Amino acid sequence: MPTWSNWSGRQTSSPTALVSPTSEEEIVSAVASAAADGVSVRAVGASHSHSRIAAPDGVLLNLDDWQGVVSADPENERATVRSGSRIFELGEPLHAHGLALRNQGDIDKQSIAGATSTGTHGTGPTNQNLSASVEGVRLVLASGEVVSCSPDEHPELFELARHSLGGVGLITEFTLGLRPAYRLHERLWKESPDDVFGRIDELVTGTRHFEFFWMPQLDACACKTLAETDAEVDDLPDVKLERIGWSHNIISSIRDDKHTEMEYSVPAEQGPACFNEVREMILRDFPDLEWPLEYRTVRSDDIWISAAGGRETVTISAHQDISLDDRDLFEACEEIFRRYDGRPHWGKVHYLSGADLAELYPRYRDWWRIRDEHDPHDLFVTEDLARLRP
Ligand SMILES: Cc1cc2nc3c(=O)[nH]c(=O)nc-3n(C[C@H](O)[C@H](O)[C@H](O)COP(=O)(O)OP(=O)(O)OC[C@H]3O[C@@H](n4cnc5c(N)ncnc54)[C@H](O)[C@@H]3O)c2cc1C
Repeated sequence: MPTWSNWSGRQTSSPTALVSPTSEEEIVSAVASAAADGVSVRAVGASHSHSRIAAPDGVLLNLDDWQGVVSADPENERATVRSGSRIFELGEPLHAHGLALRNQGDIDKQSIAGATSTGTHGTGPTNQNLSASVEGVRLVLASGEVVSCSPDEHPELFELARHSLGGVGLITEFTLGLRPAYRLHERLWKESPDDVFGRIDELVTGTRHFEFFWMPQLDACACKTLAETDAEVDDLPDVKLERIGWSHNIISSIRDDKHTEMEYSVPAEQGPACFNEVREMILRDFPDLEWPLEYRTVRSDDIWISAAGGRETVTISAHQDISLDDRDLFEACEEIFRRYDGRPHWGKVHYLSGADLAELYPRYRDWWRIRDEHDPHDLFVTEDLARLRP
């Protein structure tokens, strides 16, 4: 019997079968046989979600053999890619066409389907999350039908598939809106939180990307900016406080230290107050915490269940070591985040029910209603996803 665990090892499950398709026909056939057996089917990408959103309880589809760029269209700044493609595998092939993703998250290990299904984002007030760059989706529905969706073709399914939570269908391809390849100048430095918040607007709007990790044991912020530049790519050694390179080589970091994480999105103007309340709570109630809080910004979008939907956003993430209990810390953080109208990251720990989530998103019930119409027997709904049903 196969077993599954996420990246941190915190989430585990026992799927009934493991299938590793190498073609769209094999994906269709795996969906059909799960339907015939009356079990759920779940694709996973890199299993990097901290929540149980990826946990399979029926057939597990591993899409590692379903990767790569299908076609690129530099003139219209877009490309079609297979859903299992890892983000780090897309950088060079897209660069060969003079193209790049508009933005990326803090790491590039995720699959493009996993990243968009949970609203993965990077930072920068002009940068939307990865789902906002999706222009078309091809997916296998519970009926076995393969449909192409876009704002003009099956627009409601397209809307759902932009943040699919794995629950809409088996996505086989994405057409992504891209931009011409670009270089970034990275700068790293340390600064006190009071100084950072004394000039937070200037820091956030002054470069394409600004973020910091606040380290509670030092009460200091490890800050980073990435500014677009035409300067030449440098070849300085890895350990340094400044470097220049193509976006796909610069944006992502290496995060090998296993941790678990909660992240909430709050209205951008509330970000500093919310962050400082969490910081004070940690200094007071969790003085031994060794893991940082991360502070980033995301541009608003129009996706129904996006944490950045309809509002400029600040994201704040709390981390804990996987050898330690995270519940007390995360509950204390969540209590503050919720007072700031926070919305949880779909791929990170939260304790909200479907009813709670329906209060955060005006179209949440519509998302589920349309999903249910296309999948009346819950082929794509695991027990964990069912808990989020309003
Ligand atoms: C070290 C680390 C760093 C991170 N950094 C960031 C960050 O900077 N920004 C951020 O926003 N998040 C970040 N995350 C969270 C992460 O980006 C998300 O949880 C993302 O979903 C993980 O992608 P994945 O490929 O591992 O997806 P998985 O966790 O494997 O799956 C996520 C969801 O996608 C669904 N799915 C996958 N493939 C398909 C498919 N083909 N069709 C339909 N549904 C599918 C799954 O069923 C599941 O519901 C980080 C996580 C870790 C562990």
